[in-house]
Amino acid sequence: MSDGRAIETEATELLRTLIRNKCVNDGTVGSGQETRNVAALEDYFAGSGVSCEKYTSKPGRESLIVRLEGSDPSAPRLLLMGHTDVVPVSPDGWRRDPFGGELEDGIVWGRGAIDMLNLTATMAVATRRLARSDFRPRGTLIYLAVADEEAGGTHGAGHLVEREPDAVKTDYVITENGGVPIPTSTGHVLTLGVGEKGANWRRLTVAGTPGHGSRPFRTDNALMTAAEVVRRIGSYQPKARIFDVWRRYVEALELGPELTRGLTDADRVLESARELDNLSLAREAHACTHTTFSPNVIRGGVKTNVIPDRVEIDVDIRALPGVTPEEVDAMLAEALGELAPRVTITHGRAEPGSLSSPDTPLFDSVKRIAEKLLPGSRVVPRLTTGGTDGKFFRWRNIPAYGFGLHSLRIPHTEYPVMFHGHNERVDTESLKLSTMMWEALCRDFLA
Ligand SMILES: [Zn+2]
Repeated sequence: MSDGRAIETEATELLRTLIRNKCVNDGTVGSGQETRNVAALEDYFAGSGVSCEKYTSKPGRESLIVRLEGSDPSAPRLLLMGHTDVVPVSPDGWRRDPFGGELEDGIVWGRGAIDMLNLTATMAVATRRLARSDFRPRGTLIYLAVADEEAGGTHGAGHLVEREPDAVKTDYVITENGGVPIPTSTGHVLTLGVGEKGANWRRLTVAGTPGHGSRPFRTDNALMTAAEVVRRIGSYQPKARIFDVWRRYVEALELGPELTRGLTDADRVLESARELDNLSLAREAHACTHTTFSPNVIRGGVKTNVIPDRVEIDVDIRALPGVTPEEVDAMLAEALGELAPRVTITHGRAEPGSLSSPDTPLFDSVKRIAEKLLPGSRVVPRLTTGGTDGKFFRWRNIPAYGFGLHSLRIPHTEYPVMFHGHNERVDTESLKLSTMMWEALCRDFLA
């Protein structure tokens, strides 16, 4: 078997095992049970001459580290981080068993195939190959498989960074996600995540006065007030901000001078996004230039004949890097206007965004290698709108990037649909490319 073929088979089989272990994280402390995937990885590394360190935050919530020690303590260290948990599924929408790890015609199906057991598996394969080879780096390589990314990382990366700082001491991090080829007229753009927005979840409790539903005239109905609160939050638009990383990304997409100018001008970006036919790009343009407010859950009322005195509204707010949780609260107050005194706000998550500079030797190395493995492509930094475990490191001023290397087989427009959606899948060529990417990157960057 050729080397490339062997890599592809090895990464594919490991991914299928990780999918079948079904480490579903529903947000409760007892879910996830990533100890199953940690055991699978431990089995996988057995006999390769490395030792596996295991860290437990809560029962069953285990993370694993494999370390290839470098010879020069002053050389930069690199940490490759993959999460081992996945989000729940709605099985009715799937064409395959979401936890079967089925392989057909070069496609692996299952929850986690792209978020992100594919990368967790390929990073492990690259690490084991390096461990079994003549690789004697100056800088240390740390492979980290973490629990709990899908619920914010409290019991995984967050726990390690807080409680086991020596174990995860590094100079650079690579984790999810990016590297899905986006076609342009002069080749494919491969995005590399350099930053992400901050999750700020708020519960708004609207008060009213209870009464009989048969006499609604001039009553203080909490649901009526809540409807207006939802309307105001849904239509609230804070001022746009254009980051350099957004500008570079838009320019790389080669959308033409007029649209490029519109999408990179703080005064025009909202209008330009409104007029875009490409809905996915419109949403991205809006989210990458604004702190966003999405009222997503409402609970209230007790009975059809009772005027409600209490309604709760949960709002998912994503803050741009540089916007503090306090500033988020000030924006909420502005959106509510004179209704603010009738609303009590409580905090769920309250996280600042995070942004790493793309001007590092690691970025140069990723760029060099990815562009060679996928000829005609170019690596471009991007701001991610969702959350990743990269934030824990960026908050501590450690550059953390999101990457992977995908083939052209599954179109880039499918990816946003598959993340946390139905029919998640990956092609085995992409697994080979990512594995080769990590291996070459370590040889280049840690040499
Ligand atoms: Zn993920």
